[in-house]
Amino acid sequence: MQKRILTGVKPTGAPHIGNYLGAIRPALALAKKHDSFLFIADLHALTITPKPAELKEQVYGVAATWLALGVDPKQTVFYRQSDVPEITNLAWLLSCVLPIGMLERAHSFKDAQGKNVEREDIKHGLYAYPVLMAADILAFDIDVVPVGKDQKQHLEITQEAARKFNLIYGDGCLKVPEAMIDEQVMTIPGTDGRKMSKSYGNTIELFGDDKELVKTVKKGIKTDSTEYGLPLKDEGDTVFEIYRLIADPTRIEAMRRRYQTGRKDPDGPNDPGNYFGWGDAKGALADLLLEHLGPARAEYRRLMADRGHLDQLLAEGSDRARAVAHPILERCLKAVGLRS
Ligand code: AMP
Repeated sequence: MQKRILTGVKPTGAPHIGNYLGAIRPALALAKKHDSFLFIADLHALTITPKPAELKEQVYGVAATWLALGVDPKQTVFYRQSDVPEITNLAWLLSCVLPIGMLERAHSFKDAQGKNVEREDIKHGLYAYPVLMAADILAFDIDVVPVGKDQKQHLEITQEAARKFNLIYGDGCLKVPEAMIDEQVMTIPGTDGRKMSKSYGNTIELFGDDKELVKTVKKGIKTDSTEYGLPLKDEGDTVFEIYRLIADPTRIEAMRRRYQTGRKDPDGPNDPGNYFGWGDAKGALADLLLEHLGPARAEYRRLMADRGHLDQLLAEGSDRARAVAHPILERCLKAVGLRS
């Protein structure tokens, strides 16, 4: 039997190429090989009290993003966290077995303290974030959770929550999940060469319009000042880094040879008409992005223009999610003595 795997995604603003290559594409590949659950963590998003209208829009945005990039809602159970009340109900049961010392040591809480945030300004939601995360996972008898190194400790809290609950209320109440830790976390560079991130303003947006995308690639990406006609350095170059993560091997090799020779046709003449410079490399990347992402970009627009359809897909997903979570919660309610 396939292992059950779960991934949560926060509804944040416009997704970029770093999100796609670093998080979305690998998650979709894993989803194909497992019995997969994917949810929009809209309750987690509340811990930073976003503006209601923006949050609503971002939930649609993230749903359309993942669907457009290839989530198959027939295969993957795709739902909104707040549509599954079994999760928050289970979170309370877990709150009643988890010691506060463990939550005080959690990175989420310590990070907030480290930033010198006034104690009054740290909300209970942030403090209890690992409890809700534990419920997200334990409510579905999940076998495996892919986590970055930064989330490892939070998953350990989940495992501890399940063990403690089982110790008090009987073995077999909750399944203790395994972590799948990706040791080789990929860092996609942004236009200025630093990690692509909204906070650095160096992103290439996935779903901006075509002109914008081409402009960001051609004008935004910083390169060195190699003279036109001389070989270009591929290592550490943002254009090549992104190109090689998307193109097929034949195209990557052809591109590498153009870089190495500084010529469009590596076996062609050494004259200016055949020179291959940064402008050509960026043009090739822009073309590749438009080609590779074209269908997803069109699908994203189509989905965002039909909110009713998105609502319906999410409603179907939450029905499927609840059908799994309900008996698990009932099992726990019975174990603690709240059901006969
Ligand atoms: P964020 O919206 O910045 O929290 O990013 C969401 C997820 O996208 C992160 O947890 C990473 O897995 C992935 N991600 C974001 N930026 C990058 C990047 N520059 N390189 C690789 N992965 C990234």
